[in-house]
Amino acid sequence: MLTRIWPKTDLRTLIMLLAITSIVITLANALYATWRVQRMVLIESTLEANRAYATKLASTTEVFFQLAESQLHYSATKLGNDFDNSELAQGEVNRLREQTNSFNSVAIVDTDGVVKAISPESMMLKGMHLTSQASREALAKRQPMVSKPTLSVANNLIVFVSWPIWSNDGRYLGYIGGTIYLKKKSILNALLGEQFYRDGTHVYVLDRNDQVLYHQNSQLIGKTVPGIISDQERQNRTNGSLQLMDEETSKLAGYAIVPTTGWMVVALKPTDVTLAPLSGLLLKVLKNSVPFALLTLLAAVILSRLIALPLWQLARKASQMDTQSVSGEINGIRAWYFEAAQVKRAMLTGIGLVQDKIGRLKSEVQTDPMTNLLNRRGLGAVLDYFLAMRQPFAVLALDIDHFKRVNDNFGHDVGDEVIKKVAQALRSSARQTDVVCRNGGEEFLMLLPGTAPEEARIIAERLRQSIADSWIDAVGNITISVGIALWQPDNGSQEQSLKQADAALYQAKNAGRNCVMLAGQDALVSSITR
Ligand code: GH3
Ligand code: MG
Ligand code: MG
Repeated sequence: MLTRIWPKTDLRTLIMLLAITSIVITLANALYATWRVQRMVLIESTLEANRAYATKLASTTEVFFQLAESQLHYSATKLGNDFDNSELAQGEVNRLREQTNSFNSVAIVDTDGVVKAISPESMMLKGMHLTSQASREALAKRQPMVSKPTLSVANNLIVFVSWPIWSNDGRYLGYIGGTIYLKKKSILNALLGEQFYRDGTHVYVLDRNDQVLYHQNSQLIGKTVPGIISDQERQNRTNGSLQLMDEETSKLAGYAIVPTTGWMVVALKPTDVTLAPLSGLLLKVLKNSVPFALLTLLAAVILSRLIALPLWQLARKASQMDTQSVSGEINGIRAWYFEAAQVKRAMLTGIGLVQDKIGRLKSEVQTDPMTNLLNRRGLGAVLDYFLAMRQPFAVLALDIDHFKRVNDNFGHDVGDEVIKKVAQALRSSARQTDVVCRNGGEEFLMLLPGTAPEEARIIAERLRQSIADSWIDAVGNITISVGIALWQPDNGSQEQSLKQADAALYQAKNAGRNCVMLAGQDALVSSITR
């Protein structure tokens, strides 16, 4: 049997694989790029939002302190004109506390530290001697100042804002100062305390010593949390942002300094809270990409088919180059792009060459003069060519039955005529690529390239039948016997195949002549008309 070995993978599968790989890689790449870009955008926008938030809170706080100071300044100027007027003094402290709502308490203190007026009066400190650190500092410095936050006896975290009182003639008379309770209700508390938490962002307010003045968790107020923002950062800029890493979590921080107090507002958001929307986002990207990927895949399927089809068809025809109809079939293939067109052209040229070559061999080498068929030398050349081309073929050995009788009954010349008639019949039945040869005497050989056994048997049978049916003047009917064998490049020598054909012919003779016998098959006797 002639076997055809096809490679397992074809071009179409390869193109499909390439397309699928590209789609998967593109999709993965898009997801990764989106993830990276979105992650960066989320982090950077959060850092910026926190910085802006901290800056806003810091500037609001700054405005508050400037306002508080200007209020004290106004009263200090008023009191400088009439410092001993205790009614005026009491009026001012009451007004400052009640009207502005900036302070929890307001006091006027003279150079000895004695309280001249205080609001609320219920504090019962009028005429008392103030010895607190903040009071002593205010008297010593004789300058507007905001004290460090300190914990009072009553466990209030207090900031003390004061303004010096100077007389018209330039004498220092004391100061007017107000306290702000950080833990209790005040405008400052309302400003900061109520905005400590927003969309996962915590706000810290720290004094210069990293003591917490505000935090969502009131337990932390008054405690010291060192190192949220390094001293260096703090000195370099009035506001900024940075990514903080501690042992457990990464946080995105924005910070800003309140100039008057040196306090720092820090807005912090955990990085994982910031990045939480990322997975949902990626899912959305994936959902949006899938229809497009499917469309691309569909296009790839169609395109790969379109690209592979002409080459696939040409490849199929490549194994049938020796058949008669192959040129027409190859011509009919739509080779719509350059490579396929070139392969098609080359194949058509190749077929022409194969057929030319056989034709040339037929004419070049010596032919038998009586029949004009190839002689044995010519046959040898064709066999060498088939061997070089690894061209499988079926070989038919044909012999005229009882030819001696023809010679005996009608003479040698009539015998010659019969040989010529049979030669003519063989030639006219041969296809273009078939090779017919006179093997000597009344014996012939036919080579049928690329012909399967069954096909060869049918051809031989047709031949046998047509000769048996034909009438030769003066002689009448003659018959032939045929033996068939096959040759394939990797299956024995050509000589062996010729011998097998001879042996099959011998079998046909033994089986009663006028029949076809296939080598290796015991009694494949065709319909014998005896
Ligand atoms: P079989 O059916 O067994 O083939 O019987 P056969 O009579 O054909 O026997 P065989 O093939 O052995 O005989 C061949 C004869 O053909 C012998 C020879 O005289 C004759 N012959 C050989 N060459 C020529 C030729 O060129 N012209 C003629 N007229 N006869 C030839
Ligand atoms: Mg014979
Ligand atoms: Mg013979």
